[in-house]
Amino acid sequence: MTALGETARDMARVLRGRGFAAAAFDGREGALEHLFGLIPPNSRVGLGGSMTLAELGVVDRLRAGPYRLIDRYAAASWAETMAAYREALLSEVFVTGVNAITRAGELVCIDSSGNRVAAMIFGPERVIIVAGVNKIVADLEGAFARLRRIAPLNCRRLGHATPCAETGACVDCLIPERMCNYTGIIHHGLKEKDRIHVILLAEELGY
Ligand code: SF4
Repeated sequence: MTALGETARDMARVLRGRGFAAAAFDGREGALEHLFGLIPPNSRVGLGGSMTLAELGVVDRLRAGPYRLIDRYAAASWAETMAAYREALLSEVFVTGVNAITRAGELVCIDSSGNRVAAMIFGPERVIIVAGVNKIVADLEGAFARLRRIAPLNCRRLGHATPCAETGACVDCLIPERMCNYTGIIHHGLKEKDRIHVILLAEELGY
């Protein structure tokens, strides 16, 4: 077993102890097989914005498969995007990435619109989170530091006209274009045990 594989397995063990269903994989093939095994055919599937899912080709497979995908990326206008976000809140399965996972097993995300954080916390019957080991941080302080580090990258990628998109450094802007609007912490999964599945991969994915 590789060192990254061991890290992923340790993390999965911690997450299971906090009421999440969690599994670790050394390779993408096994992880994807597990992921699609958790999505019943014909399910209404919602998506959270995620570079990890894009890197793994998950969105394309959901489009091609026997699923009723709520395709937020096919929206032709902001109104349609918001409609997809709202619909995804009542999806049967919500598939997403995550911004940070603490060593203690807390899941931390930051959103521009809040749709991902909201769906992870309540609404969809099942939530599936896919994460590389690069998302693992020591504690909540480390998670917030990670959020500040990655948010400028996302601003640049998504074309948000923020100071950090230019400089790469957060200045805690207070402008309408700000992307860091909603931070969600899922402390544990015990309220609805095994509703949230975490799939950990022994590699770096997304940011
Ligand atoms: S708060 Fe503003 S400046 Fe800081 S990372 Fe977020 S969008 Fe960029």
